[in-house]
Amino acid sequence: MGDTPLLAVPRLADSLGLRHLFIKDDGRNPSASLKDRASAIAVARAREQGAAVVATASTGNAAAALAVLSAAAGQPNVIFVPKAAPPAKIAQLLVHGSLVLAVDGSYDQAYDLCLAACREFGWYNRSTGYNPYMTEGKKTVSLEIGAQLAQAQTDLAGPAPFLAPDAVFVSVGDGCILGGVHKGFQDLLALGWIDRMPRLYGVQSTRSAALYNAWRAGREVPAPVEATTRADSISVDAPRDPFKALRAVRETGGAFLAVPDEAILAAILPLARLAGVFAEPAGAAALAGLAQAVEQGLVRPDETVVVINTGSGLKDVGAAMEAGGAPVVIPPTLEAVRKALADSSGRRPQD
Ligand SMILES: *Cc1c(COP(=O)(O)O)cnc(C)c1O
Repeated sequence: MGDTPLLAVPRLADSLGLRHLFIKDDGRNPSASLKDRASAIAVARAREQGAAVVATASTGNAAAALAVLSAAAGQPNVIFVPKAAPPAKIAQLLVHGSLVLAVDGSYDQAYDLCLAACREFGWYNRSTGYNPYMTEGKKTVSLEIGAQLAQAQTDLAGPAPFLAPDAVFVSVGDGCILGGVHKGFQDLLALGWIDRMPRLYGVQSTRSAALYNAWRAGREVPAPVEATTRADSISVDAPRDPFKALRAVRETGGAFLAVPDEAILAAILPLARLAGVFAEPAGAAALAGLAQAVEQGLVRPDETVVVINTGSGLKDVGAAMEAGGAPVVIPPTLEAVRKALADSSGRRPQD
């Protein structure tokens, strides 16, 4: 888990008028999302406690991560996902041998059911916002960003083994990842290994904006919303880790941003074409948030900015096809290739 690349992406940076932009590509984890960092800790803790069964509720990725890591460790596990989770994520659970309970209801209903089942059957509960160790797993992304940034900018950093960026953008559903990102940089600061905190930006969809709303209104406890975003990994009615997420933004002088679903799907393309990173909608949301922040003047052109891609585009091929368009279907002749080239003239393959 982890050890994912921090990619310098100069062409994507140019397109936003930035000079030092990096993508932390956590789509390259074993189950293809950042959730592996947390599920690794869950399986280790469960085994330490001799738990017979680990369970989790999940919009899909936390479950896929638990399924992979449980399979690696031989740990029986039960998964509660909303029935509407993307097929790729459900396929991951099934191949890795989890007991998959597809709940005919929302993520929030699956969450409450998992909690009740863990109490009833004595299972170890991995669920986000319930299990405090998940933050400890998720924070490792910040430790890596600090180390990799120092490596990438040795000229600037001199001998420093860690370096803080100026700003980090990450998409937010329950708020656990954002809280974990905060904890990681706090640990580095407490050790004296970085000399300041980055500003943390939490990006939500306008169709799932409970934390954004609470931040705007100065509330401590977010009012639930009825989430309908296409970015399933951040589709949350009542965030389960709201306090850490709100604190992460408030204490670092960052912000929450809410971006429309159209901007989220559209952001899949520049990530793929200008940075070579294939993101699922929730991952692309972070880039859409950065674009909005640049427009609003929240980020200066010379600042060092990290966007975390939290999940791979192969998780939700339907969304990718919506963003990327359809292939040109041709008969198997050279003539057809010539015609297709003429029809697409003016458009380079990478545009
Ligand atoms: C879980 C997840 C998020 C959001 O994380 P929270 O801890 O729920 O805020 C974002 N992107 C992806 C791909 C995820 O799987």
